[in-house]
Amino acid sequence: MTRQRLVTETGLSRATVSVALGALAAEGRIRETAHDASGARGRPSMLVSIDASRAELIGIEIGRAHIAVALADGADTVIARADRDIAASTDVRTRVEAAVALLADIAAERGLDLTTVRGVAAGTPGPKFTGEGHRSQDLALARFTRDRADVAAYLVGHFGVPVRVENNTRYTTLGETATAGARNVAYLRIDEGVGGGVVVDGSLVSGSWGTAGELGHVCVDPNGPRCACGGRGCVELVASLPALLAATHSADLATLTDRLRAGDPDATVALARAADAAAQALAGVLAVLDVSTVVVGGRVAQLTGFLDRLDHVVRDVAPSWCTAKLTVRLADDDRTAGARGALVHARSAAETTAGADDQARTTG
Ligand SMILES: [Zn+2]
Repeated sequence: MTRQRLVTETGLSRATVSVALGALAAEGRIRETAHDASGARGRPSMLVSIDASRAELIGIEIGRAHIAVALADGADTVIARADRDIAASTDVRTRVEAAVALLADIAAERGLDLTTVRGVAAGTPGPKFTGEGHRSQDLALARFTRDRADVAAYLVGHFGVPVRVENNTRYTTLGETATAGARNVAYLRIDEGVGGGVVVDGSLVSGSWGTAGELGHVCVDPNGPRCACGGRGCVELVASLPALLAATHSADLATLTDRLRAGDPDATVALARAADAAAQALAGVLAVLDVSTVVVGGRVAQLTGFLDRLDHVVRDVAPSWCTAKLTVRLADDDRTAGARGALVHARSAAETTAGADDQARTTG
């Protein structure tokens, strides 16, 4: 827009707008181009625009065997994204290096300069637990925490800008929320594990200990077996891919898929149990948070009949006012949603100077 329009829209003085634009121009973040307004006389007006060729934000998802990256410009528009399967590794350093290499590849391909980046956010697996006194799984939690610190340190060292590291499924929630164009969303991912995230009024909910949205650990059977989380009868124990394979004595996903397509009764019953458990957990979320959109991702969600069953049961068991206009849909983009969602935190990392737990900042 023109300088005059910026003054009108912001309500700031002409001088203030001029100083702000001067600072942005000095950093190379905006450019001014001549614009011949139709019918205008005299010299052409100048249009101020954000330089879309500049990468300002980096979003990264570091899965166990899959990495994804996304780049956004100064207007938070995604300008490039890519993903790649990698050899499954528990070594987080190897995986973050692979992600940085992928970024370099797409930057070179598109002629983008990564030295203009101002904020980076990365999602890594495992609950991000900020509290103490957890009953079990302490070793696993310690490793997830250590991995996040290692990833943050590596990325700060590499890019020299503020970095945030969160749970990858939370970032996928943000990415899917953007895709759905909704402000209140429950995201459930059912794969090797069962995770999720909740967005309320457009913001990701973290909770007191950083674990809000762990839909896989909602109890659906108070008399069920003890879960690794310390609770009992969790969704994950019946709905995760390993749980389904064990319940149906299937060697792998391909076998289970074939049996479901062939209408195998045991496989059909096990899948219905999984869908019912997920639906029960989601019904609780609906009653409490009144979300408008449920997005279900992961390989279990794509199995024949799963989504239909889940949709049917959610509408049957949840309060009718929650389901009248409810949208239940498959995740649109399982491959790069986590990296796209991370861009939201990359922006806040770039703009915030106050230090959060995992927000590493360069000094000097
Ligand atoms: Zn659990």
